Amino acid sequence: MKILMITSEAVPFAKTGGLADAVSALSIALAKLGHDVRIVMPRYYRIDRNKLKQIPGPMGVHPGYQEIWTGVYQSTLPGAEVPVYFIDHEQSFGRDGVYGVPGATDFADNPQRFSLLGHAAFQLCRKIGWIPDIMHAHDWAASLAPILLKFNERHGDFSHTASVFTIHNIGYQGIYGKHLYPYTGLGWDHFYSAGFEDWDRINFLKAGIVSSDKLTTVSPTYAKEIQRPEFGFRMDGILRYRSNDLYGILNGVDTDIWNPAKDRLIPAQYTARTIEKKAVNKEALQKRMGLTVDANIPIVGIVTRLADQKGVAELFGPAYGSAHRICSEIKLQMVVLGAGEAWCESELVALSHKLSNFRAYVGYDESLSHLIEAGSDFFLMPSRYEPCGLNQMYSLLYGTLPIVRRTGGLADTVENYDEKTGEGTGFVLDNLTPQSIYDTVGWAAHAWYNKREHIEKMRKRAMAQKFGWDESAARYAEVYEAAIKGIEG
Ligand code: ADP
Repeated sequence: MKILMITSEAVPFAKTGGLADAVSALSIALAKLGHDVRIVMPRYYRIDRNKLKQIPGPMGVHPGYQEIWTGVYQSTLPGAEVPVYFIDHEQSFGRDGVYGVPGATDFADNPQRFSLLGHAAFQLCRKIGWIPDIMHAHDWAASLAPILLKFNERHGDFSHTASVFTIHNIGYQGIYGKHLYPYTGLGWDHFYSAGFEDWDRINFLKAGIVSSDKLTTVSPTYAKEIQRPEFGFRMDGILRYRSNDLYGILNGVDTDIWNPAKDRLIPAQYTARTIEKKAVNKEALQKRMGLTVDANIPIVGIVTRLADQKGVAELFGPAYGSAHRICSEIKLQMVVLGAGEAWCESELVALSHKLSNFRAYVGYDESLSHLIEAGSDFFLMPSRYEPCGLNQMYSLLYGTLPIVRRTGGLADTVENYDEKTGEGTGFVLDNLTPQSIYDTVGWAAHAWYNKREHIEKMRKRAMAQKFGWDESAARYAEVYEAAIKGIEG
């Protein structure tokens, strides 16, 4: 099959979250299965044109309000034969930030910017003489492609192309004033029929859900949860309406990068059989974070965006957050790596000053994130909602037992500890409250001090889990087949 991925981010070129990892890894896995996969994305300011190959000639795109002349550059994903095409338009994309910059997290002209991406996807295919069987769009910023396919393009060159739209996080929808609707290039007759209308505004994600042939999201549990009001961010109704076309497919892990046996970002590589070497990483982590070096105290690690989704209010909220109580009352150490909401960043600094067994690094640091996974005993992730989540899977592979809330991909990947038998791969809490986080961390620490044989058994079981992309890619291929069958009807 010929598959075009349309996305606002893909590693290693641009990343703000797990979406960027998923798009590239899925593309590589599909290419390995023999599919012709290509990616189209914007060329942001930070993507150096000098390292890309220019496709000669300007490319005219007509998103509705004016003709826009863009350039097209090309590269490939590292270590793979997956072509990546970059739409180059200085005025739209030649700036820092994918969706915005700190302080202005959502650029006011995002509807124009990402409409351009959607229209450019079709022009690109014409320019390179390659018409895909599948257009696979990721999240709201790419949703215009399936919408245009359904309403404008399927009458011509793309009459046999089907669309798949993946929701990586339903919390981000691309909602703007309806005066910006004309930038989509669609007539007002599609304002309602394409699903844009949302309480008198426009909603890109909603239109993607209404207009795409098939829908997917990134874990089976999240696929069910988003059909309920508590998790659907107001999209639960239309998702229930489309539930026959909605699939939940778990993301995989890039095991070239996240593999304790060959991880070059940690001092001691290890496997389940040489797990004793994990202690070297623990010591390195304690030293690096300025904690007392002590093998006999458990470390709870956290690597996260400091966003409400991740349960940071319940963890670090200045009045009731559980981290302060956990570190004061339970004999353990806690290390946090995170960046995000300003109040939370300052709270982390304050806690580091107050508590000798709590240390935080505020910022983004790839190598520290690996050391935390390798050196910690437990990994805490009490998310409010979690479409898939990567860190709990990294933790399992590193023998670092996850303490998670039973939601989304966390529910699908972590099996709760059974203290009678020692079965399980982690510790699961149901209610997102400071008390319940405290109780569950306390439970894990209690097992660490009193049931070490269970902990060792769970570690081995955790490290034996498989989270490769191959199986997920095969499931996506099935969804593509179903989408094509649907339009050929
Ligand atoms: P989300 O995409 O919602 O942020 P995921 O768990 O799916 O959550 O993916 C987050 C990714 O970003 C992981 O690879 C995680 O290690 C990484 N990450 C998040 N915050 C940081 C940070 N401050 N430093 C380094 N890596 C981080």
